[in-house]
Amino acid sequence: MKICVVGAGYVGLTLSVALASFGHDMICTDKDLKKIEQLKNGDIPFYEPGLLDALHHCGNLSFSSEVKSSMEECPVIFIAVGTPPRSDGSADTKALQSVISDLSEAIRSYKTIITKSTVPPGTNENIAKQLIASGVSENLFNIVSNPEFLREGNALYDMLHPDKTVIGVQEKDHVSAAIVKSIYKHIDTPYVVTSLAGAELIKYASNFFLAAKISFINEMARICEAYHSDISDISRAIGLDPRIGGHFLQAGIGYGGSCFPKDLQALQFAAQEKNTETYLLQAVQHINDTQLGLYIKKIKSFCDTLHGKKAAVLGISFKPHTDDIRNSQAVRMMERLTELGCHVHAYDPAAVLPEHLRQHVTQQSQAFDAIAESDFLFLATEWPEFLALDWKKAASIMKGRLVIDGRNVLKKELLEDCGLICTGVGRP
Ligand code: NAD
Repeated sequence: MKICVVGAGYVGLTLSVALASFGHDMICTDKDLKKIEQLKNGDIPFYEPGLLDALHHCGNLSFSSEVKSSMEECPVIFIAVGTPPRSDGSADTKALQSVISDLSEAIRSYKTIITKSTVPPGTNENIAKQLIASGVSENLFNIVSNPEFLREGNALYDMLHPDKTVIGVQEKDHVSAAIVKSIYKHIDTPYVVTSLAGAELIKYASNFFLAAKISFINEMARICEAYHSDISDISRAIGLDPRIGGHFLQAGIGYGGSCFPKDLQALQFAAQEKNTETYLLQAVQHINDTQLGLYIKKIKSFCDTLHGKKAAVLGISFKPHTDDIRNSQAVRMMERLTELGCHVHAYDPAAVLPEHLRQHVTQQSQAFDAIAESDFLFLATEWPEFLALDWKKAASIMKGRLVIDGRNVLKKELLEDCGLICTGVGRP
């Protein structure tokens, strides 16, 4: 099938590679000329394990910055553009609107328009109205919501092995679900076919639930601290209950990334628009927003003043195996430390500092260059190489003794044997 994917980001590019590997004839298009040039030259614009290699094995995938004509050529169009948060928390769908406006001029034959972007309930229904209002016949298209659940760092695997595929269709649409299933026919997956708004809400519900697990365990960790108990024992024990499950029960500095923070805000905004109270949703965000403060308090309890101290921060990305720094808690921690007068030296295997921090934070190209002469070390992202760090060497080059484990992943006894003090959250 000839398929156009609009948006060559984490979702759109991974989708394009996956569908090309199934034998579909793919055009991946983006308005970002630099990105498209890079892709045409056989490189990818972000770090995602395995994706570059898979791209090099794709014979039937082309790239274009001609968004309108690419859409015109294809009977199936996936939209995977960004939906970042506005300042009021609502999802900014202006990129999506711009694609729809281009699309309204590109529909000359029947199209299945499939939204992969995470959008508030009602958005896809409005897209249909917008197309009809701009003069497109309703017989010439169907809109489908097919939200994406991939995890950055595992994107291609998740795209090829999803735990479910959600297909949201319009009320009288009896053809699109079969078209989407035929596109994904190489994937063995349970299908959930629902309404457009149902599919939009499934995506938000999924991220809300996962974020809630993280905030739940972080609140439990605070209670553990008060009772000198170990949160990791609690996580392990409750995680063995299949009704609870062991994932997302690691206490730490909280969730970040391009999805959870913005999607929870957008869901809250959508609920408020319909005068629906959101007690849990607000609590989950509040716990996350206050989590870094606990760590700052902890550091202050060890150091009389933070002013002028050298801090080594390991990790910049919001999680390991990605260079994505959108809403990274590691970045937020560096902002807090620099505000308090620390000289921060950071290291990350893949990510680079955001522009606004480059004047205040020194990014090192080796972990030990960041660690050398530091008064304390903050582990912000649990990259495997930090877990396997030579802590004896780290102890020998640090000025201070304090290691703050922002992800509760370090072996405390091992660090203590090296003469370091290791503290996490909810660990005695
Ligand atoms: P991204 O920012 O990496 O990529 C979006 C791309 O869309 C960019 O390359 C941008 O240039 C392009 N674009 C914007 N406007 C355009 C236009 N008018 N025409 C053509 N291209 C345009 O975003 P992403 O992380 O891939 O996320 C895309 C969507 O998928 C978002 O709604 C996000 O919430 C959702 N999602 C993301 C993930 C994830 O882990 N990144 C997972 C699931 C769902």
